[in-house]
Amino acid sequence: MRTTADVVVIGGGIQGLSCLYHLAAKGIRNISLVELDLLGSGSSGRSAAMLMLSMKREETIALSFVAWKEYMAFGELLGEPTPFKQIGYMTLATRAAEQELRDEIAVQQKMNVPIDVLTPAEVQEIVPVVNVEDIVLGAICRTDGVIDPHAVMQAYARGAKQLGAEINERVQATGIVLENGRVDGVETTNGTISTPRVVNATGARAKEVGAWVGLDLPITNYQRHIFITDEFHAIPQNTPFVMDLEVEWYFRKEGENVLMGMGREESTSFEPQFVPEFQEQVIERAALRAPILLNAKILRGWAGLRALTPDDLPVLGYAPGVEGFVNCCGWGGHGVMHAPAGGILTAEIIADGNATSMDVTPFRYERFAK
Ligand SMILES: Cc1cc2nc3c(=O)[nH]c(=O)nc-3n(C[C@H](O)[C@H](O)[C@H](O)COP(=O)(O)OP(=O)(O)OC[C@H]3O[C@@H](n4cnc5c(N)ncnc54)[C@H](O)[C@@H]3O)c2cc1C
Repeated sequence: MRTTADVVVIGGGIQGLSCLYHLAAKGIRNISLVELDLLGSGSSGRSAAMLMLSMKREETIALSFVAWKEYMAFGELLGEPTPFKQIGYMTLATRAAEQELRDEIAVQQKMNVPIDVLTPAEVQEIVPVVNVEDIVLGAICRTDGVIDPHAVMQAYARGAKQLGAEINERVQATGIVLENGRVDGVETTNGTISTPRVVNATGARAKEVGAWVGLDLPITNYQRHIFITDEFHAIPQNTPFVMDLEVEWYFRKEGENVLMGMGREESTSFEPQFVPEFQEQVIERAALRAPILLNAKILRGWAGLRALTPDDLPVLGYAPGVEGFVNCCGWGGHGVMHAPAGGILTAEIIADGNATSMDVTPFRYERFAK
């Protein structure tokens, strides 16, 4: 492992790997990434893997556009196309969620996201297995779809290494060495790396790592479960991702199987706690929204953490008062789709002095003080 580096990236999830690759691509080659376990072992390997333009807020749609551009040019950039299947993303609103969906649609239309508003009858025409009795409104973005986060992470890792970056798995950062308010090194379980800059891309542990340098990152981890059924042909391959907005229950095809997700429980542990019994709640909503799913057998499941900030926007850029400490965290439920944006913007901030691909003011740590 290197003992000196121009930048140390802490965290080998999709965001940390994107930072590593984009820093290397900008010519900063003496970079080292430390990951306490294996690459992708955090939230990045546990997501529903959706890549969407149909986000809720202008800022997150803008991040999606930056990310989208890179994902669509992935082949030219990294020699391998993004494994992306444009299945579409459909949102359903009951009366309780109607205003929320109307607000989302208004923002999406303003931002030129290709969104189609649907009546309940149109919803059922597209996805006949959905029960629309209590649905008042739907929307679909047909260009949204599923990517393969593992393939993306491997591509970033390979690309970064080819450019001279170093990746250390099973090495945990344990502290930051500060010298007169400036970053001077990163302490790890494998020794200290002397460096003037560090990127905090530690997902669910970002608050803890921020606290090492006196930051109070308002990040709360929320747990979500995903369950996979056995082969289930009653839901056809051309079915879009379906989100029941009121309770954030969703399903989509996963190969021949069906993936269902749900849950927003606050977690005090850095490790997601899989609760097999949670499937009862998931099945309860399935019974209402897509009753045919009661015929499917749940084969397996897992839990993952979403590191959310109070405004559901990430924290990006230099932290005030600690020279050399850069955040790339708080990605909530969007960190996979926004990975190219996180890496591009972080690399611009470090290598060029400021972000040029988009305005990052809404993502600054300083916003929390207001
Ligand atoms: C159920 C579920 C569904 C989701 N669905 C989607 C979706 O459809 N689309 C989407 O875009 N996003 C989705 N997300 C969110 C997405 O998974 C996250 O936003 C994203 O993975 C965050 O990436 P990251 O690199 O910041 O964090 P992580 O992938 O968690 O990576 C952080 C890494 O840092 C490492 N680390 C932490 N502390 C240290 C340390 N001290 N030293 C060394 N290494 C350390 C961890 O081991 C971890 O590997 C979902 C999340 C969940 C849980």
